Amino acid sequence: MNGNSGSWFGYMGQVLRIDLTHYRYSVEPLNKDLAEKFVGGRGFGIKYLFDEVPKGVNPLSPNNKLVFTTGPLNGTKVQSASRWIAQFKSPLTNAYCRSVAGGFFGAEVKFAGYDAIIVEGCSEKPVYVWINDEKVEFRDAACVWGMATLAAKEFLLDETDKRARMVMIGPAGERLVKISALVTDDMRTAARGGGGAVMGSKNLKAIVVKGSKKPVIYDEKAFDELVKEQIEAYRQSPAFEHFRSLGTDGIVYLFYTLGNFPTYNFKQIPFEGAYRFTPEVLASYIVKHNGCYSCMIRCWKTFKLTKGPYAGVVWDFPEYETHWSYGGVLGNCNIEAITYANMLSDLYGLDTISTGVAIAFATELYEKGIIGKSETDGLELKWGDPEILVELVRRIALRIGIGSILGEGVKRAAEIIGRGAEKYAIHVKGLELPAYDPRSLKAQGLNFATSPIGASHCIGWSKFEILGLPRKVDPFATEGKGEITKYVQDETAAAETAVFCTFPLTNEMITIDVCSKFLYSATGIDRFKDPRYLWLVGERIFNLEKVFIAREGFDISQDTMPERILKEPVPREPSKGQVFELDMLLKDYYKARGWNERGIPTKEKLEELGLAEAAKELGIA
Ligand code: SF4
Repeated sequence: MNGNSGSWFGYMGQVLRIDLTHYRYSVEPLNKDLAEKFVGGRGFGIKYLFDEVPKGVNPLSPNNKLVFTTGPLNGTKVQSASRWIAQFKSPLTNAYCRSVAGGFFGAEVKFAGYDAIIVEGCSEKPVYVWINDEKVEFRDAACVWGMATLAAKEFLLDETDKRARMVMIGPAGERLVKISALVTDDMRTAARGGGGAVMGSKNLKAIVVKGSKKPVIYDEKAFDELVKEQIEAYRQSPAFEHFRSLGTDGIVYLFYTLGNFPTYNFKQIPFEGAYRFTPEVLASYIVKHNGCYSCMIRCWKTFKLTKGPYAGVVWDFPEYETHWSYGGVLGNCNIEAITYANMLSDLYGLDTISTGVAIAFATELYEKGIIGKSETDGLELKWGDPEILVELVRRIALRIGIGSILGEGVKRAAEIIGRGAEKYAIHVKGLELPAYDPRSLKAQGLNFATSPIGASHCIGWSKFEILGLPRKVDPFATEGKGEITKYVQDETAAAETAVFCTFPLTNEMITIDVCSKFLYSATGIDRFKDPRYLWLVGERIFNLEKVFIAREGFDISQDTMPERILKEPVPREPSKGQVFELDMLLKDYYKARGWNERGIPTKEKLEELGLAEAAKELGIA
């Protein structure tokens, strides 16, 4: 059954608005200007948030909104373009957040007939929303409140439709843990920025969705031809086989040797156990390959544990980031414990990056004598202790003792603890750093410093420095890094209108040229034909995100780095002696962006991008 509303191609032509306060919903026609100007996905999300969530809203109040978006290619045959995005004001950072995940939820939202779902207000009691095409019901969630994600999923599928898809929260989101995640039925997580807590604050356990429609394609013949070309291009790409066989686990040890993988809370001292993360060792745990809707890369792997206290566990593998956050940054090389803690995080609904960095922070405070056993509920925090890792994951998710403080994120935890703890809190704008050392990769660091959501590797990934794509640059050099940081940030924003996965994008299996051809043949919108237009849209989205946080008071003083990254030279090769040259790099970046010296987009820049209204909001019109 085809089901686009009205004359839409690619899009479904409808936005579902869910008002939890009054248990009402409405279906709004998709605005044509919005589609032309912001294309979809991340573009739609920031535009809705910017217009509807004014300055100063408490992220955990009914006035915050949670926007779930898809793009015009979701639910089609295009490979790797069926991810979904959650956008909201973050309770972790008080800034804007974009959090993305894969699986099948995004495609199912399209099949139900919607390009976006906007959740607002707050229910008096726990509910879940059941969307079955046009039918939308608010259902009592008392029986699943408190349940871990896997159990809740089984329960909700029983109550709705076995073939339904969902996004939900676990006990961490219910407890408003600020590093809690949104989790899908297939255990994909939109983890960053505390989306789980936003959903928890609304007393919303899950959105369950089932649809029977399909997006209608504008030029089916050209579209099918492009899909064929894409599949062939994937097969020819060396990155394809690499990702298909081992996902992101193929790079863990390599990145350690390159100095990108920061050890021991970014102290970067040698990590004896790093050899445990070689591709050969990690491959030996894989028992199954899987993937998102319409993606032949199938980069998800299932690990099976056969020895140690967690023998018998069969679960989604820890990605590169989690081998680091539950491994390298803690000096822990116990793959079994990392896998088990990863499973707990999916079940409780936690961001593994922020959780691991928070544990590393606490471990260093304990090592330095800033906190002691009286503050850790008697736990002795040691580097490389797999049992402490598992215990702290549980305590953070359930807000037990020190876990309750760490679940606030390292920035707030340092403020609560005091006594100089901030020096060891590794974050930007309150978001914990991921598994890249800014001292070893200057553009990657510049991306963390300037990202509107805080230190995220997903808002722009320095493929120039890491993969030498589209051209090789020296990772330690500072010259020209402003321009390439802008390039990867705008490129990612443009591709996430579709919503393409960043893995094939960073490996150039997908380019903006390809993206633009797909978007035109799917939607028939003339402007999308020109890849330069899509680059402009990417820049427009990034600038609007920046204006959102500028309106909240963020400026150059938050475009910064932890003290360790600025002042402590890396002690190990190959980055030995490197620090992060913030001032020089920022200056270059603001110039490349056309922003002022305070890191704020100028009136001219905003007008050039068609964002004159945003300039007015900043009082610079
Ligand atoms: S590459 Fe992996 S994460 Fe990305 S769309 Fe494909 S299966 Fe999903």
